[in-house]
Amino acid sequence: MPFRCPLCGSTSFGPVTVRRRDGSLYLSSLRQCAGCSIVFTDPERLSKSEPPPTPNAPPLPPDFRRLWQTPKRESGEP
Ligand SMILES: [Zn+2]
Repeated sequence: MPFRCPLCGSTSFGPVTVRRRDGSLYLSSLRQCAGCSIVFTDPERLSKSEPPPTPNAPPLPPDFRRLWQTPKRESGEP
C-alpha cells in the first residue's frame, strides 16, 4: 500500500543513515518521512496510524514530572 505520513501527509520517505563514532555511515533499518522527518520502522503501520488529535502535545501528567524528579530507586518495586 502507498505510504502516507499521518503527520504531514507526505507520500515519500527514505532510509535513515546513521553516522558511527568513527565517522562512517551505515544504513539503518529505520525510515524517515521526507516531509516532517519523523522516523519510523514500518511505513505501512505508520500510514494506518491516526494523526495526533492536536498539533501540540498534551501537557505531561503531574505523575510524570514527579517520577522525573524523584531520585531513582534501586529495584524493590512492589
Ligand atoms: Zn511526515
